[in-house]
Amino acid sequence: MKKSLKLELPRLVCVETTNRCNAKCVFCPNNALARDKGAMDQALFEKIIEDCRAFPLEAIEPFMQGDPFADPDIIPRLKHIRARLPDTKLRLYTNGYGMTPKRIDDLVDLGIDRLFISLNTLDEDRYQQVMGLRLARTLEHLKYLMDPSRHGRVAGKITFRMTRLNDTSLAEQDQFLSYCKEMGVRPFIVGLFDYKGDIQSSLPVPSYGCEHVRRLDILASGKVTLCCMDQDGEYSWGDVNTHSVLEVYRSERARKYRRMHAEGRRRDITPCGTCNNFWPDWEAGGPLRRLKTAVEAGAYFLRHRPTGRRAPESAPEA
Ligand code: SF4
Repeated sequence: MKKSLKLELPRLVCVETTNRCNAKCVFCPNNALARDKGAMDQALFEKIIEDCRAFPLEAIEPFMQGDPFADPDIIPRLKHIRARLPDTKLRLYTNGYGMTPKRIDDLVDLGIDRLFISLNTLDEDRYQQVMGLRLARTLEHLKYLMDPSRHGRVAGKITFRMTRLNDTSLAEQDQFLSYCKEMGVRPFIVGLFDYKGDIQSSLPVPSYGCEHVRRLDILASGKVTLCCMDQDGEYSWGDVNTHSVLEVYRSERARKYRRMHAEGRRRDITPCGTCNNFWPDWEAGGPLRRLKTAVEAGAYFLRHRPTGRRAPESAPEA
């Protein structure tokens, strides 16, 4: 496929099957959503999946601002995706709290490619403070999930994820890494996103283009938001109730965002100029632009270490 056409296809479609969440994470804008909370209409969900059959879609994530297991219909919806998009990678993100043993049994052999569980800390009091949940319950679920008879049949790869807050200690990070090792699961520590300036983060806004402009994020209402950082769809690209997934992705507004990022002008467009999402768009622009992205992103990662173990701001390295 010609590169120009490839760039006009989303690499990922995210579908917010519900915007309800059982957690109250301090770093998540779900707590302050301006929209009504609820699940996506089933007819709309099926329409989106049919739209996605019209082009080769690399990956789909039925998730946005809510937790998938707060959607009572998540299991049939996952099965529907798998049946209608058999060649598309299916990735699921959850905090694990609502992923009960019964739900885990339902996931066995369903065909999930990657499962990410947002754990954030293993300190009971801090877990309660950061996520508003009871750690013991989540750990029971994870123990059930990671049973050798089961985990390989639930998802091809499972990752436990820790969002590193500005004050997350090295001891906390080490405890998380040891736990992942013990459980035989891939750990991923990631710095705090600032949700286009709404959340306080010590990581600065990068200069290079962001990969989120090459995905399509659909809210529970069908409104297409700029990206997962645009939690209420303030910078919407369109609506899949009235247009197809591809029509919205190819809208003039969406193209303008992609063009600005590909030309290295991310800081000149609202709200990207105040957003610190550090994942680079490796594919936008010609060879020179891609080289520039590689240099700028390399320097950003070396200097600010947005992923991996890192001492909290102004604390001495252990
Ligand atoms: S820079 Fe931020 S606000 Fe802009 S598209 Fe990327 S993630 Fe969204």
